[in-house]
Amino acid sequence: MPAARVVAVTPGSPAASTGIQPGDEVLTLNGEALRDVIRYQLQADEPVVELEIRRGGLEQLAVVEKPAGAPLGLELDSPVFDRVQTCDNHCPFCFIHQLPKGMRRSLYLKDDDYRLSFLYGNFTTLTRFTEADLERVLSEKLSPLYVSIHATDPDVRSHLLRNRRGATSLRWLAALLDAGVEVHGQVVVCPGINDGDVLDDTLLGVLDRFPRLATVGVVPLGVSAHTSEPEMREHTEAVAGAVLDTVERWQRRFQDALGRRLAFAADEYYVLAGRPFPMVGDYEGFPQHENGIGMARAFEADVRAALAGEPAAGVGPRAGFFAWVDGAPADGYRAPRHFDAPSRARAGKRAVGRVTIVTGQYGERVLAPLLPLLRAATAPPLRLLSVPNRFFGGNIAVTGLLTGRDVIDVLASEPAGDRYLLPDVVLSRDRFLDGVAVTDLPRPVQVVPTDGASLVAALRGDGAHER
Ligand code: SF4
Repeated sequence: MPAARVVAVTPGSPAASTGIQPGDEVLTLNGEALRDVIRYQLQADEPVVELEIRRGGLEQLAVVEKPAGAPLGLELDSPVFDRVQTCDNHCPFCFIHQLPKGMRRSLYLKDDDYRLSFLYGNFTTLTRFTEADLERVLSEKLSPLYVSIHATDPDVRSHLLRNRRGATSLRWLAALLDAGVEVHGQVVVCPGINDGDVLDDTLLGVLDRFPRLATVGVVPLGVSAHTSEPEMREHTEAVAGAVLDTVERWQRRFQDALGRRLAFAADEYYVLAGRPFPMVGDYEGFPQHENGIGMARAFEADVRAALAGEPAAGVGPRAGFFAWVDGAPADGYRAPRHFDAPSRARAGKRAVGRVTIVTGQYGERVLAPLLPLLRAATAPPLRLLSVPNRFFGGNIAVTGLLTGRDVIDVLASEPAGDRYLLPDVVLSRDRFLDGVAVTDLPRPVQVVPTDGASLVAALRGDGAHER
C-alpha cells in the first residue's frame, strides 16, 4: 500500500495536536489509501479526518477535528505516493538528457504524469495517458492541464518524441477538450525539424482539431554544451524572427476565427530576434507566464507600477499552481525558492553606495532598458552584473538556470563594498541548481523575489517585499 511520509508538522496545527511526528507514514485518510496529494487534499478538507499512521512498523489511528477546509498542517515528502508516472519518450531536445552529471537527483526525473501537470503546470505528452486517467480527470475536475504538442503531424510528433505512441496520443487531448477540460499547449521548436512549414502546419492543426485549447506557448529548445544530439541546433536570429512572424500571423488568424490570440511566443524569441516585446494587453492575462511567455513585459509593468505607487499586475512567479495544498511541495525546477534565515541575515541591508543586480545574460537584456527609470526613481547608484552560464554552456542564458559555481566565479572578482541583489529565480529550496548555497557565495547577497515590485522595494531599502 502506498504511504506518505511526514516531513514536517506545523506547530499548533490540528495535526500537531494528535502527536503526529516527522518520519511517521500516513497510510489512509478516512479509510482511503492515498495515491497522491490530490486525494489527500480532498480527504484532509473534511471536518473530521481519521488518519491511519505507521510509526516504527506499528500502525495506529489518529482523529483530527477542525473546521472543514482548514489545513491539517502536515508536509509530506512527495506529491505522489504511488510512484510518479515517468516518461518513456526520448526527445532529442530533452533538457534532462543535457544535464551534466552530479546535480540533485530530483532534476533527472523525467515525469510524464497528468497529476503533476495539474499540480504544478508540468507539461505532459499524454503518451502514457489511459482511459482510467481520463475518467479521473473528469470526475475530479483536474483542470487546467498542460500538454506538449510539438507538432500535430503524427510522423513529426513521433519522430520528436522518439515514441510511436506520439503519433496517436493527441487523441487524448481531443477527448479532454471535448469534455471541457482547460488545456494549455506547448510547442518546443527545434530548427530544421518543427519550425517553418511544420510550425505553420501545427498551428493550422490546432485551429482545425484543437480550437478549444486555451493557449499554445511556442518556445525555443535549449541546447546546452552537454547535448549529444547532432540534430539539435540553436536558433539563429533569422530563425527566431521567422518563428515570430509565423506566431504573429497565426495570432491574427486565431483572433479572426476564435476572438483570441491563442498562440504566444516565448520572451527568448524577442531577445534572440532583437525585437520589442508585445504590449501587456497582447498577452491576454499572461496565461503562460510560468513558461517564460510575457515575463519580461510583466516585470517591466510591475516596475512601472511600483515606481508610480500603484498595485502590481500580480502575474509574478508562483511556487506552484497548488501552493495552498498541505504538504505538496514541487520538486526539481518548480521547487519552492524560499531561502533560509541565515542567508538573509548574512545579506542584511547595508548602508553602502552602489547596488549591483546579479542576473543572467537574457535577464540583462530585459533589465538594461529599465535602468534609467530605476536610477531616476531610486536613490543608489545602480549597475547590472551579467553572469554567463558556463556550467550548461551552449545557448543557455536564462537567469533561472544560473548555477552557484558560475555566480561564485564572477562575484569573486567584484568589489566587496557593493550591495548585491540576487533574484530568487536562481534558487530552489534555498540552493542553486548545482547545490551551492547562497551562504557559499564570496560576497553577501540580498535575495529578492523575481518580480518588478520586489526589485523596486529592495532598491528603496524597503523590506516589505523581502521574504
Ligand atoms: S517528454 Fe519531456 S521529459 Fe520526456 S524525453 Fe521528452 S522532453 Fe524529456
